Amino acid sequence: ATNFFAGPSVLPVEVFQQIAEEMVDYKGTGLSLMETSHRSKTYDEVHNGAVEMMKEIFSIPDNYKVLFLGGGATLQFSMIPLNFLGEGSTADYTLTGTWSKKAAADAAKVGKVNVVFDGKEKNYTTLADASTLKPGEGSKYFHMTSNETIGGIQWKNWPDTGNVPLICDMSSDILSRPVPVEKFGMIYAGAQKNLGPSGATIVIIRDDLVEKCPDSLTAYLNYKTHADSNSLYNTPPVFPIYAINLVLKRMKENGGLEGMVAHNKKKAELLYSAIDNSNGYYRSPVDEAYRSNMNVVFRLPNEDLEKKFIEEATAERMYGLKGHRSVGGCRASIYNSMTIEGVEKLTSFMKDFASKN
Ligand code: PLP
Repeated sequence: ATNFFAGPSVLPVEVFQQIAEEMVDYKGTGLSLMETSHRSKTYDEVHNGAVEMMKEIFSIPDNYKVLFLGGGATLQFSMIPLNFLGEGSTADYTLTGTWSKKAAADAAKVGKVNVVFDGKEKNYTTLADASTLKPGEGSKYFHMTSNETIGGIQWKNWPDTGNVPLICDMSSDILSRPVPVEKFGMIYAGAQKNLGPSGATIVIIRDDLVEKCPDSLTAYLNYKTHADSNSLYNTPPVFPIYAINLVLKRMKENGGLEGMVAHNKKKAELLYSAIDNSNGYYRSPVDEAYRSNMNVVFRLPNEDLEKKFIEEATAERMYGLKGHRSVGGCRASIYNSMTIEGVEKLTSFMKDFASKN
């Protein structure tokens, strides 16, 4: 089967196989890692292995901490304003689709939101040259969503926010392309697209931001709690962290981030050219300059044909091609683990379907 769902993630099949092999007896210990103490040496290696591997592959400078938290990327929508905004202060938000709007809505419950970009007028189908965006006066931070999973749009560059910390939700495209981490105060991502199973959220946070977290916050909500305890203040999401470690190791063996960039570029080119070369049968609603390389959104001539397309693709075991219920149409999510063969299967089906319908 080929999995085009927007999440939870497809892991590389080799990782699923290794997990299956190790599940009952982890490396001859006679215990499953799932029942191994998170304070044990066995787990320590897994936990720190994931942290170190992430630093290496994503080129994270030494003045950043890599944390693994629970609560999904959604909890970060609250934690960010609780730690860095506060009542009466203002933060900058870019509104580019469903996820950034959710992040901004939570921030507005804590402090003031200054909208620096709003894609509403163009129905969130386009972005801007991010280098033209500037933070507002006295802003506490500048928030953006690198890839809007539902709308299928992706920022192609980053703003220069000076002393205002740049904070970015990279849930649906982390590790799909190189990122100048040093430009960011914080990067966060739910694991379940490119990193591993759902249940862990990765937070990459610069040391000076950790120091700004207020003592008045309850323990779990405070980034400092997690930074000071290497994400072991409470029981961490052991299983996802273990799987993330395996995914990262495999990525390293396959050329690291550079290898992934080439792999993703090829897949996106294959799929978008199938759309663009269909004489208008398939149509991308997204401004070509900001098309996502992870979530490819497209329309057919009408909704009946879209329904038929999705049904027939499902019958051929190509799953998850239905667009999000809020926007309709079709969407193929081609995260890191999607193979070239998977995309080729889809493009040849698309060609065939267009000629028959
Ligand atoms: N941000 C983006 C860009 C997403 O795609 C998603 C989920 O799909 C979320 C945030 C929410 O993540 P979670 O389900 O981990 O809370």
